[in-house]
Amino acid sequence: MPTDREEHISEKAKEQVEIKPAKLIDISDLHPYNQESLIVSLDHCIKCNTCKYAFGAFTPSCPSGEEFGWEAYWASGRIRLARALLTGKLEWNDEILHPIFACITCGSCQDQCQAVHNDRIVDVIEALRELAVKRLGAPENQKKMEDRVGKDFNPYGDANSTNEELKKKYNLPNNAKVVYFIGCTSNYRQKNLRNATLSVFNKLGIDFTLVDEHCCGSPLIRTGQTDLIPDLMDHNIRVIKEAGAETVVTSCAGCYRTLKKDFTKFGKDLGVRILHTSEFILPRLSVGMLKEMDKKVITYHDPCHLGHHLGFYDIPRQLINFIPNLEFIEMERIREASWCCGAGGGVKIGYPDLAISTAKKRIHEAEETKAEYLVSTCPFCKRNLSDANKKVGNPLKVIDLVEIVDELL
Ligand code: SF4
Ligand code: SF4
Repeated sequence: MPTDREEHISEKAKEQVEIKPAKLIDISDLHPYNQESLIVSLDHCIKCNTCKYAFGAFTPSCPSGEEFGWEAYWASGRIRLARALLTGKLEWNDEILHPIFACITCGSCQDQCQAVHNDRIVDVIEALRELAVKRLGAPENQKKMEDRVGKDFNPYGDANSTNEELKKKYNLPNNAKVVYFIGCTSNYRQKNLRNATLSVFNKLGIDFTLVDEHCCGSPLIRTGQTDLIPDLMDHNIRVIKEAGAETVVTSCAGCYRTLKKDFTKFGKDLGVRILHTSEFILPRLSVGMLKEMDKKVITYHDPCHLGHHLGFYDIPRQLINFIPNLEFIEMERIREASWCCGAGGGVKIGYPDLAISTAKKRIHEAEETKAEYLVSTCPFCKRNLSDANKKVGNPLKVIDLVEIVDELL
């Protein structure tokens, strides 16, 4: 015979299983992939908090959670927000926009989380953003990026560069097996990085060309502004195909992630091999091609769109180690445990204070290695780490790996 207590528990359990499946709000206006991501948010997070600390390093992993300190600013809280909005338990209001958008989408939480949904956490956040954009509109600064891309095909609002002048300057053909996809940040704000890449390709004798590229779509996808994405992708697919390319090389971590992962997510097929500059250059170098680096001390920052998003950790390190006569010292938080530069996910334009305070933490970590060079492989990381470095007043030189290779080749 069950005891009173057992009977009580069994009644409670019956109530639990009799709870009807939650009725979900209509999300049919979202991109199908984002609809799927939001459904993932319903069931899988077990609120274990593992995502808050970097695996192995046992240090904080989430820049936005550390900055604001409320649950809604960590991955687990954002998943709860998604679930509450989806099941109609939370009404939309302007206050929800801050935790939804003040996330760098660095993906560190994905590397820390051990649950089945871990590789969809950033997708959930991006889907939540699309939902917010469709219901309330994007926050003002993030919206500027969409307006500029709509008008000039880049998020900086500069007149679109068709790259014809660069093609003439470097005497590039109209057709080639390799296309260098420059990316907006290198083409409009970090031109040193673009010029170094062009110079390295020339020195290596690569038969390549440039195309009239439009924004790859990364800043809009990351901020949930998806309306322009199909046109941007179709345009880039067309110009790359017209150039006869078999391989597209990019020196931007954001473009790399988008070309490699988001095109498929949005049902588009580029049909070419996508390589990051570091993986394109490395097999083309042989011993003796690079000058010595004068015993400089170097440390390396993993761009989140290469590392946390795609597990691309080894190749830049192999390229660094290929450079003769340098000392390579790693920071405390590297690879899966690495700390973000602070610039991604629309945070640089939307929440500049969060962007800079996140980057300052990385600068201090680099300082501890006593490095003279803080090296990365992404123009956006270079930009934000340089901005923070100037504010800190540090003698550290923030530089992209391709700029070093160009100097030594
Ligand atoms: S997102 Fe993953 S790590 Fe974070 S609380 Fe949920 S299950 Fe745990
Ligand atoms: S993507 Fe980065 S900032 Fe956003 S919740 Fe995950 S760890 Fe935090």
